[in-house]
Amino acid sequence: MNTCVIALPDEAATLDLGAQLARACDSAVVIYLYGDLGAGKTTFSRGFLQALGHQGNVKSPTYTLVEPYQQLARPVYHFDLYRLADPEELEFMGIRDYFAGDAVCLVEWPQQGAGVLPEPDLSLTLSYVNQAREAKLEAHSPLGERLVALALKKDSA
Ligand code: ADP
Ligand code: MG
Repeated sequence: MNTCVIALPDEAATLDLGAQLARACDSAVVIYLYGDLGAGKTTFSRGFLQALGHQGNVKSPTYTLVEPYQQLARPVYHFDLYRLADPEELEFMGIRDYFAGDAVCLVEWPQQGAGVLPEPDLSLTLSYVNQAREAKLEAHSPLGERLVALALKKDSA
């Protein structure tokens, strides 16, 4: 299964999807997070980070472009490329060093880094459904396929 759509009735469901995928990532993974402002990309990231042991707040690194979390079970880099003017800037910030080892990279606004960002294992597109949200998951690797299968299983449980 390469794609699926998951209903996210409330914020807790978005956090839970992040947490669930985090627990299943036992190797390096790149997740692209698409969706309008307020769609829940950072909320998903918070659920993901908290499941790996991060306590406390998670803010979109809108001005710094990346926030590192290095005290967790595995390093996580949370990107927000909304304000990236030119994908070339990613080369200057040493993008390859982040997408290395067993790091987890969560990338909000990946379209801003097109052509320079490494390909994702999974892309997640969050959209508004009235007051709620839904997530479309698309796998781009075997690991991505495992994550899609897992999200589906949980959704039907
Ligand atoms: P983004 O990073 O995509 O701009 P945020 O995660 O910062 O979005 O903000 C999403 C907002 O929507 C937060 O106020 C959060 O509480 C809320 N939210 C997240 N998921 C849901 C959901 N499934 N249903 C309703 N509200 C949600
Ligand atoms: Mg955000």
